[in-house]
Amino acid sequence: MVQSSVLGFPRMGVLRDLKKANEAYWADKISQQDLLAEGKRLRLAHWKIQKDAGVDIIPSNDFAFYDHVLDHIQLFNAVPERYTKQKLSPLDEYFAMGRGHQKGDVDVPALEMVKWFDSNYHYVKPTLQDNQTFSLAQDPKPVREFLEAKEAGFQTRPVLVGPVSFLALGKPDRGSSVDPITLLDKLVPVYVELLKALKAAGAETVQIDEPVLVFDLRPEIKNAFKPAYEAFAAQGSAIPSIVVATYFGDIVHNFDVLPAFANVQGVHVDLARHPEQLEPVIKQLGPNQILSAGVVDGRNIWKNNFQKSLGLLQTAIKALGPERVIVATSSSLLHTPHTLASEKKLPADVYEWFSFASEKVKEVAILAKAAIDPESVRAELDANAAAMKARAESTRTNDPKVKERQEQVTDAMHHRKSGFETRYAQQKTHLSLPLFPTTTIGSFPQTSEIRVQRNKFTKGEITEEQYDEFIKKEIDLAVQIQDELGLDVYVHGEPERNDMVQYFGERLQGYVFTTHAWVQSYGSRCVRPPIIVGDISRPAPMTVKESKYAASVSKKPMKGMLTGPVTCLRWSFPRDDVHQSIQCQQLALALRDEVVDLEKNGIFVIQVDEPALREGLPLRKGSEREAYLKWAVNSFKLATAGVEDSTQIHSHFCYSEFQDFFHAIAALDADVLSIENSKSDAKLLKVFIDESYPRHIGPGVYDIHSPRVPPEEEFKQRIQEMLEYLRPEQLWINPDCGLKTRKWDEVKGALTHMVNAAKYFREKY
Ligand code: GLN
Ligand code: ZN
Repeated sequence: MVQSSVLGFPRMGVLRDLKKANEAYWADKISQQDLLAEGKRLRLAHWKIQKDAGVDIIPSNDFAFYDHVLDHIQLFNAVPERYTKQKLSPLDEYFAMGRGHQKGDVDVPALEMVKWFDSNYHYVKPTLQDNQTFSLAQDPKPVREFLEAKEAGFQTRPVLVGPVSFLALGKPDRGSSVDPITLLDKLVPVYVELLKALKAAGAETVQIDEPVLVFDLRPEIKNAFKPAYEAFAAQGSAIPSIVVATYFGDIVHNFDVLPAFANVQGVHVDLARHPEQLEPVIKQLGPNQILSAGVVDGRNIWKNNFQKSLGLLQTAIKALGPERVIVATSSSLLHTPHTLASEKKLPADVYEWFSFASEKVKEVAILAKAAIDPESVRAELDANAAAMKARAESTRTNDPKVKERQEQVTDAMHHRKSGFETRYAQQKTHLSLPLFPTTTIGSFPQTSEIRVQRNKFTKGEITEEQYDEFIKKEIDLAVQIQDELGLDVYVHGEPERNDMVQYFGERLQGYVFTTHAWVQSYGSRCVRPPIIVGDISRPAPMTVKESKYAASVSKKPMKGMLTGPVTCLRWSFPRDDVHQSIQCQQLALALRDEVVDLEKNGIFVIQVDEPALREGLPLRKGSEREAYLKWAVNSFKLATAGVEDSTQIHSHFCYSEFQDFFHAIAALDADVLSIENSKSDAKLLKVFIDESYPRHIGPGVYDIHSPRVPPEEEFKQRIQEMLEYLRPEQLWINPDCGLKTRKWDEVKGALTHMVNAAKYFREKY
């Protein structure tokens, strides 16, 4: 028999129940007991979905109120003293680390939160001290939740983040210099104690996640696996059997680590992402070891291609025998929405192409049966084949016109007519810009009035004309305020945009939208990415109406505002049937037409935002990363290079760590770059001199995440610092990012100081 297994289930519930409960608890609207009860209800419901689907190996301890890495910080009593000393309840201490705590006389900021591998989920970074100690928390969560499941009739496999990954994903706390991996021998005994407790509670197997195995690892980390897993092996049957899980990459480059797992029961690999690692991995397994084959993708929303998965499973079964193969999700299903059943508005044909978490668990169970006895699930296999065929042949998927256009893309289309010097000379006269030009990044406050009107329009309570009138009034207001502030390049304020990707997706052919397909991004925050289902094209201009109107009421250059192709791709669920580079090029061509249309309509400054360019970077150095950089940069260039020399192309990035990414940013050939910088050392800008960067740069001069209005002096100081690294003609003055989350009085206050500071330097130079 082949078993089926799920590595983790989304936590939010059908209607983002966990988000609602958490937020109600934070707002003191429900009690701690209520919240704990809601957590239990969700766990039980999620176990039941998996059991009803016929899954053999169901995870526990995959649930977390905020984040599963944060759970482990508390589980190992690795909570920094600034939290423990507040004497909060364990749950409040936990949330304090996740999101900060400001109540009564307690005021502690959150721990750092960063992206989980290359996903859009964020985890809380373990923050460790020079004299760090670890011990097992009382009533450890994995044991508690295992027993909770058991009592309800579910035999589960607890999931733990492994000791090497836990440390490798951590960092030294402020003021400490400890290399976290050196703490391994202090941490391993705590794992042993936990594993013993799980065994005593009745756990037969545990899943230990060591996802760092997909990275390029330094020797200290590689060498840490052996002592850790040897210590576990030494416990013999006093602890459960272990399946080591990896995901989001292949582990072939780390095969020299595998002897460390000689005594574990099995290894899980991601075959959705890297099917080619199957045969090499099979060769590495010990004579009795199990392969957990991650064939059902935990990162997307597509129905599994059973034929393809069964091909992989047959290879594994042939080599290992059915008893040594487990059919699994490629990773936790945390990154997929809860259930397709909630979607009532999807086109009927497209509905058949999708599979969310509750459907994917069924796929795993069906595949396990099909691998041994296809006839027992003939109907399911036939239905799957029919869905695959319908999708492959759908006119929605294939648009010959788009393909034809892609074939006609030439190298020349990626390059502006002239080099920057020539372009700049023309732009300077065409736009009559002063030294130290001031601008903003695009959005102005999204007031509650804007949201109310947008909602009314979506619900059909006001007509399109009424809504358009409202948007025009908002643009008028934005222009009037920019007049008063004395900015140099205006923006229309983006009042008509609900979201920077969805807005474009809704205007492009090839996208569909869901109503409930929320995915956890961090804590209680969820995102609902649009889905790319087919070849992308632009039936009509998307932003020209608003930008043209804004330009018509403005006496200074109006900046057109677009979301770049890479960001549109990364913040959507992409297709899995064509390479992402192809989808990105289609987006680029659609945006290229938009850029040219804006120019035709009198918009001569156009900003194409690419905040997601960096997060798409493949996890490992080497050919995959090089290839990504090439197509990502080319897509941006293709989108923007269709304009005359006198039109100025801007781009914007919301991160400041661009040193190792500098060449990609430089290769975009944007006339002006705005980057987040206000919280970083101005020294970071040195890379622009070191690399003799010729074009113009607007490093953010103030933090837009905070309501604080910095005094004029602070702006002057900041600009002065920047001038140590940038030439005066090179420097633009702008905030870190868009202002949509701020209030108008904060915006006016800060921008007044910003413009005054720019004027001060204009006089000086
Ligand atoms: N133009 C967008 C805005 O100002 C940019 C947002 C972003 O970079 N995330 O809101
Ligand atoms: Zn930004």
